[in-house]
Amino acid sequence: MRFDQFSLSLPILRALTEQGYETATPIQQRAIPEVLAGRDLLGCAQTGTGKTAAFALPILQLLSGRKPASGRPIRTLVVTPTRELAAQIAESFKAYGRHLPLTTAVIFGGVGQRPQEDALRRGVDILIATPGRLLDLMGQGYVRLGSIEVLVLDEADRMLDMGFIHDIRKILKVVPAKRQTLFFSATMPREIRSLADSILHDPVPIEVTPVATTAETVSQAVYFVAKNDKPALLQHLLTDGAVTRALVFTRTKHGADKVAKHLSRANIHAEAIHGNKSQNARIRALDNFKKGSTRVLVASDIASRGLDVDDISHVVNFDLPNEPETYVHRIGRTGRAGASGKAMSFCDGEERAFLRDIERTIRKSVPVVDDHPYRAGASAPSHQSDERRPQQQRRPQQGNRQGYGRSGDRRGDRGSDRGHGQDRRSDAGSAGHGHTQRSGEASGNGTGGGQGAVREVASPKFESRGRRGFPTRW
Ligand code: AMP
Repeated sequence: MRFDQFSLSLPILRALTEQGYETATPIQQRAIPEVLAGRDLLGCAQTGTGKTAAFALPILQLLSGRKPASGRPIRTLVVTPTRELAAQIAESFKAYGRHLPLTTAVIFGGVGQRPQEDALRRGVDILIATPGRLLDLMGQGYVRLGSIEVLVLDEADRMLDMGFIHDIRKILKVVPAKRQTLFFSATMPREIRSLADSILHDPVPIEVTPVATTAETVSQAVYFVAKNDKPALLQHLLTDGAVTRALVFTRTKHGADKVAKHLSRANIHAEAIHGNKSQNARIRALDNFKKGSTRVLVASDIASRGLDVDDISHVVNFDLPNEPETYVHRIGRTGRAGASGKAMSFCDGEERAFLRDIERTIRKSVPVVDDHPYRAGASAPSHQSDERRPQQQRRPQQGNRQGYGRSGDRRGDRGSDRGHGQDRRSDAGSAGHGHTQRSGEASGNGTGGGQGAVREVASPKFESRGRRGFPTRW
């Protein structure tokens, strides 16, 4: 479906043409008309599906068609968990709304507050914010939310994971009850479901069904390896010249730092990106990676949300995630836009159960690479540690053993990469509540064959994660 088939104004269509967008993605096709009609939305979708434009375009259309109250109050608030996502969403609003007389501002922590105060003072129609800084600035009187017409809660499950749920409830108390609410979450754990139920009014449920196309463009492989040997295996794999741009995922920020340091010592240019780094350091690392001056970016999951870098040749799961959705999300960073990509996952003895969960979710087994010098007993049962090495194993001389996996990488650190507050990991990912599927509208509608479909569900409930596959690409 082309964008001029929606009731979008010429300035918006012009901006979309300038962006090079031709056809709407499945979530955009479903969401844009509903948002334009004033409906609330309950969207089950991840980044990478075109979700941002799905809400930004109709919001821009609605706001530009209504006369603002005097004093230029904030009329749209988008709350999102990470700085990267906030910055990216603001960029999208600015790009799509560049020919409209609407102003957009973004506020997040980790940087000076002054420029944000100045922007707010000048008057903002659309505010994109992370919860902590938003509450700070509300407390100081810089942000008033009494005139909000549209509220967007983005990546709600991530906000729960990061301990933001109480902040969200505080924010909800001060936005007008009469408003339009657009709610997005990649998974629907119980707490998120009940939050959605309590704030949405007769929402249109939209789920973007991930499809198998990514599986065809991303070749997956698992390497059984002892925890201590992971850094050396990574170094070994990175000597392959085919690895032109690699994104390496670790479970913790501490782990990300250690891996990046290990690689740098081995003369492999690598940088780490995670929540403990200043915003400027994160932007710099990302820019270097995009430019190609850094070949390897080591990231913790939360920092990687919203990472939108083209031509990533390899994704390495240095640690396997305990949530299959995270695996799907991570490997979707490569093999984008029809390019081919490789996803290499390291699995130690403690991670076998995670691998089984992942394979159940993606409904296929991940091929095992046996032919590597650090191979650990692949047949060891998952409850056993495989810190031992098979007898025939050879170890290249360059292997650098820095005590990885001994302290900081222990599972106790897991999930420590959060925005603020304590880590309240809940049942994110256990999205198994209610599953009535009414129609499976396959793509083939101008978005390119097999590129994801939007499913209407009979009630705003989502299917269990066991049926979820890959992030949509079009
Ligand atoms: P999102 O899921 O919103 O993070 O979007 C993922 C990427 O897709 C971003 O780089 C967008 O600029 C891009 N994108 C979104 N919608 C379209 C579209 N209709 N055509 C081409 N690219 C798009």
